[in-house]
Amino acid sequence: MNDQKYDPVLKAGEQLINGQAASPGYAIGCASLFNTSELVISTEPVDGMEVEAEYQQFIKARRIVVLELRKISEIASATDEEAHGIIQAQIQIAEDPELDKSIRRLIMERHYGADRAVNESFLYYIQLIKNTGNALMIDRIVDIRDIRDRLIRQIQHGELVSGVAEGSVVICDELMPSDILLFSRHKVIGIAANEGGLTAHATIIANSMGIPLVINAVGATRITSPGDMVVVDGVDGRLVVRPDASTLETYRREKERYTLELAESARIVELPSVTRCGREIVLRANIEFEEEFDNIRKYRARGIGLLRTESFFIEDEGLEEYYSKEAFFEKAVKAAAPDSVTIRLFDVGGDKFSDTTTKEPNPFLGWRGVRVLLDKRQLLRSQLTAIMNVAGRNPGKIRILVPMVSVVEEIIEIRREVAALTEKMRGNGKPFDENLEIGTMVEIPSAALIAGRLAEEADFFSVGTNDLTQYTLAVDRGNRLISKLFQQMHPAVFQLIKKTADAAIEKGISIEVCGELASNPDAALCLVGMGITDLSMSAASLPRVKKAIRKYSMLEMAELSQMVLDAATQDEVRLILDNWKKEKEGDFSR
Ligand code: PEP
Ligand code: MG
Repeated sequence: MNDQKYDPVLKAGEQLINGQAASPGYAIGCASLFNTSELVISTEPVDGMEVEAEYQQFIKARRIVVLELRKISEIASATDEEAHGIIQAQIQIAEDPELDKSIRRLIMERHYGADRAVNESFLYYIQLIKNTGNALMIDRIVDIRDIRDRLIRQIQHGELVSGVAEGSVVICDELMPSDILLFSRHKVIGIAANEGGLTAHATIIANSMGIPLVINAVGATRITSPGDMVVVDGVDGRLVVRPDASTLETYRREKERYTLELAESARIVELPSVTRCGREIVLRANIEFEEEFDNIRKYRARGIGLLRTESFFIEDEGLEEYYSKEAFFEKAVKAAAPDSVTIRLFDVGGDKFSDTTTKEPNPFLGWRGVRVLLDKRQLLRSQLTAIMNVAGRNPGKIRILVPMVSVVEEIIEIRREVAALTEKMRGNGKPFDENLEIGTMVEIPSAALIAGRLAEEADFFSVGTNDLTQYTLAVDRGNRLISKLFQQMHPAVFQLIKKTADAAIEKGISIEVCGELASNPDAALCLVGMGITDLSMSAASLPRVKKAIRKYSMLEMAELSQMVLDAATQDEVRLILDNWKKEKEGDFSR
C-alpha cells in the first residue's frame, strides 16, 4: 500500500489553498457555499399559499432584530448617549407601521419574498428621506441601511443554512460560533473559511464538535463552486478544490489512518488521568453550548472548567430573556455531576460582541468583560442572581469566574456585589451557597504580575492563555496579517503563567489553565511542570493531552518547563520540547 502523504504539487484541474489548520481531521465531499458578507436578494416570486408564512418570517426577523438592538442600546446607554439615541431611533424605524404596511403589501399582493419586500420598502423610504434635502436626516441613511441589512440577513439566515446540503463541506467567508452549531445540525463534515482566528470562538466550537476546519484559506469562496468536490485537510491546513484521482486516493488513506487514531483515543479515554509518577491531573471541559454537554461524559472530563456565557448575547434572544438561563445552568450542573461547573460572567466586548454600536478605536483594549459588568450593574446583578440561585440549589457545584481582570479593585467590587446579593437571599429565605468560590481569569499581563496580591482577593485563578498571548505579544488574536506572531508557546507567555502559578501555590489557592494552550499536549507538559495540575480545554482534546502527561513524571515535566522558561523564542521552545521528548523516548519505552 502506498502510504505517502499528499504532495502539494498541483495536478491538472485541481486547486490548492494553504490556510491554517484550526480543527483536526479530514473531510472529503461536495462543497456548499455559505457566504455571510454579501447580501443577494431573491427575485423568485412566492407561491400564493405561502405569502402569510413569508410575512410571518419578516415579523420573526423584526422581533429578533429589535431585541438585538435593544440589548445594544442597553449597553450603549452607559457610555455613549449619542449611540444610544441612534439605536432608539433605529428601533422606531424597524417598528414603523408604515414600513410594515408596505412590506406586507409587497408580499401579499406582489408575492415578493420577505427579503425583497424589505429591500424595496427601505429603498422607497430612503428615497423619501433624500427628497427632503435635510442634511441631518440624510446623514442618518447609513443607520437605516444598517437596519435593512440586519433584517435581510436575519430573514436569509435560515435559508442560507438550509442551502447547506446535509453531509457537505462548507466553504465560507468567516464564521460565528452559532453558524458552527447550525452546520453541525446539518451534519456538515468539514469547513474551510477565508478568514478566522485560531482562538476565535467559532474555531473552539468546531473543535468541540469534531468538525475539521481550515481557516485563513484566502480565496476559498472565490475558487469554489457549489457541488465541487473538495478536501478539507484540518491537519496540515489545506483546502484542495476539484482534486484529481490520485489526490483523492491519498486523502482517503489519510482519513482512514486518522480514524484509527481516533479509535486509539477512545481507548485512552478509559485510562486514569495520572502522570507516570501517579499524580492526578484534573482535566475539565470548556463548554459554550448545550450541544456540547454530552462531550463531558464522552471524554470523561472532570466537570466544566469554563462555561462561557457570551452566546446568550450572540444568539437570537435579548437581555430580557436572560433570566431564563437558570435552566441552562441547571442542565450544566447535571451534565457535569458529580463534578463542578465554573461559570464565567459575561465576557462581552473585544471580538465577542462585535455588533456594538459603541464604536471603539481599540475594542480589545476597551470596554470588555468585567469593565462592562461594573458599568452595567443591572446586567451584572441579573447574571449573578441567576448563577447564585442555581448555586443555592446545588451547593458546592458552581464557581464564579470573573473575566478580563486587570486591577485588584475589580475583583473586590465583584465580591462586594456577591456579598450584597447573598444578604438579600438570606433575608428572603432563599437557599444560597455559603462557600461560593469567586475566581479571577488571569489573561492580562498586569493580573499575572500582581498575582500575589490578587490571590488574596480571589478563591482561585484560571489562566486564559488566548488573551494572555494576545496582550503579552500585542497581537490581535483574530488578525490574519499577524497570525504568525500569535505565539501561544512564546517564553514570555510561559513566564507569566509561571509567575501566576508560583503566587497561587504560595498563597494556597487553586490554579488552572483554561485557554487553548492547555489543549496542546506539548504545552500541557510544560504547564504541569510548573505545578499546574488542573487543565480545562475543548473536550475533544482531552485524550491526546492525557496520553502525553501519562508518559512523564512530575519531576521530568518540571525539568522541561525550566528549560522552556529560559528560552528566547517560540522556535527555541519547540526545539527544546522535540529534543527532550526524543531523549526520553530513548530512555524508556513510552
Ligand atoms: C482565554 O482568553 O484564554 C479564554 C479562555 O477566554 P476566551 O477565549 O473566551 O477569551
Ligand atoms: Mg479571554
